[in-house]
Amino acid sequence: MKTIDYHMHTCFSGDSEANPREHVLQAIKMNLDEICFTDHRDFDYPIDSFELDVENYYQTIQSLKEEFKDKIKIKWGIEIGLDLDHKEEINQLIAQYPFDFVIGSIHVIHHTEFYYGEFFKNKSKEQAHQEFFEETLKCVQEFDCFNVLGHLDYIVRYGPYQDKSVDHQKYQDIIDEIFKTLIKKGKGIEVNTSGYRDLKTCGFPNFEQVQRYYDIGGRIITVGTDSHTSDRVGENCLTVVKKLKEIGFNDVSTFTLQVKDLMTID
Ligand SMILES: [Zn+2]
Ligand SMILES: [Zn+2]
Repeated sequence: MKTIDYHMHTCFSGDSEANPREHVLQAIKMNLDEICFTDHRDFDYPIDSFELDVENYYQTIQSLKEEFKDKIKIKWGIEIGLDLDHKEEINQLIAQYPFDFVIGSIHVIHHTEFYYGEFFKNKSKEQAHQEFFEETLKCVQEFDCFNVLGHLDYIVRYGPYQDKSVDHQKYQDIIDEIFKTLIKKGKGIEVNTSGYRDLKTCGFPNFEQVQRYYDIGGRIITVGTDSHTSDRVGENCLTVVKKLKEIGFNDVSTFTLQVKDLMTID
């Protein structure tokens, strides 16, 4: 199986100052087979209206791709905030550029975000989690311009609750519907290893949910660190890949121009 980091942010994202070249050097050091840059674009992030400089981002990654072509495979992607209030702009942006790979993530729900907690105002934890998964389902039903759904249950990181944990079973019907919708559309999920920081033993989502996705028929899966600094590139990726193998996956998925690469049997 390949070891990949398919979720990395650099200075082209509003919340990172990382030099993309340093990411590549770290990825080589970590013995990764392939990486994909996925800088952010959200159309309605109330705390940060940073606009991705797509042209400059493209040129920068193209030249790194060329420079390191004998050492590591480099892809050019984006993490797009799926937001039903901005459906047209989102579809237009993705159609306009030759992205290799697109992560669709839920960062904002109707102008409220999770980081500073506005989304959670006047909601019980159960209400907030229910709404988060319901909105995620709507987004995967409505949008087609992405390859994998980002950090399925990362809402566990946020909220004004002493116990932030997500009781997946309570929302399993909705989560299963999210999985089925993704599978039907030829899309997948990622395991986001930044979850190890909060949850210690797994990423977003946890392996129980990854197993469930596999059992329902899901085969498209990527692994990414969501690193915003170069020292985190590749972190826990090999651990996750090994676990995916145990679950039954033949390989992780990689993409070129948003088409899934053919699997190599190794
Ligand atoms: Zn994200
Ligand atoms: Zn991210």
